[in-house]
Amino acid sequence: MRPVDQQLSVQSLKPSEDAGYRSASWIDACQTSRDLCRPYRWWVEALGPDETFRSLIERADRFHGEPPPDTPYVWQDSSSYGNCDAPNSYELLRLARMLDVSAVELFKHRLEDGPHLLYPTERRAYCPQCIREDHAEGRPRAFRREWARFFVLGCSSHRTTLHWAEPRLSSLKDMDIEVRLQPEEPWQQELLQVIDQFALTLEASLWNKARWPTNWYGTPASARAYLARHLCNLMGVPATLPLVHLWTQNLPFPFVAVPKRPMPPLYGPAWENARRIGRPAWRRAALWLTAWRVIPGLPAHWKPITLPTHHLDAIDEWWEGVPATPHRFKQWRTYDALRRSCIPIVIDHAKRDSMK
Ligand SMILES: [Zn+2]
Repeated sequence: MRPVDQQLSVQSLKPSEDAGYRSASWIDACQTSRDLCRPYRWWVEALGPDETFRSLIERADRFHGEPPPDTPYVWQDSSSYGNCDAPNSYELLRLARMLDVSAVELFKHRLEDGPHLLYPTERRAYCPQCIREDHAEGRPRAFRREWARFFVLGCSSHRTTLHWAEPRLSSLKDMDIEVRLQPEEPWQQELLQVIDQFALTLEASLWNKARWPTNWYGTPASARAYLARHLCNLMGVPATLPLVHLWTQNLPFPFVAVPKRPMPPLYGPAWENARRIGRPAWRRAALWLTAWRVIPGLPAHWKPITLPTHHLDAIDEWWEGVPATPHRFKQWRTYDALRRSCIPIVIDHAKRDSMK
């Protein structure tokens, strides 16, 4: 009997398009992981410094063409389809063969999913300065793993704010390097720095890498709950996010912005929903509202001018006005848990207001 490699000719392994994705009938014809990638190469540069796998895939799509919808790439197992930033060992070996690099080198670029990261498809924030350097040095423009963290809103190398690359343009063009790096008004620049620093402190406190500042209100968990309340639609019908209360003509756009369209009601865990808010401008808006509530003594001119005192009460009123039904019970329970989690901030804040 001939070895497997000889039984399957290159022609029999090759689907109609030689673009790195596969059809179901073709997968059935392959017997080993080696067969899966043998006839394929991705003619793109290997991963750059700290580049994500999703960034590599976008580059390959631009060169080879996008695969049909819901079609995994030739190196992917169907079980991991959707989170391509964390390939398993078999996938790494196949991809290493396709790129002609070592699997050990590829392993350094894995990004295991977790609550500190944005949802995999939302990891599209980028630093224009880093991308300009890529361009100047002749490297492909690449998304870095650091920018996939929910609480990272600035570049640690350049101290610039992160911007957003539109997903609908991902297969057509690279990230824009001509964007403005920071707002013109000095007070807006300072405000963005405070928001970025607040986000990093909250992240470090949530994962026990730093102590919660003793003069801040509440706890890391209550601050995250308060943040999630602004990033989720906690009513049972489509509605705009509570974040919209921040909207004003003077908002430092595009660095801080709010989604004005109605969002579907929350189903499932609130933080999983918050992780789907990838745009740095929207995350910054929610963090601004949270920082204003948590950090005492912020300058009065940083107060969001359109913010009513009890802007979250509208959700309470909505729940009071609808009959309790079993199919809404899970949503109500999530909302109630979030509201209770915020109590340390609310009580502390009330004390502060009464002392004025
Ligand atoms: Zn940078």
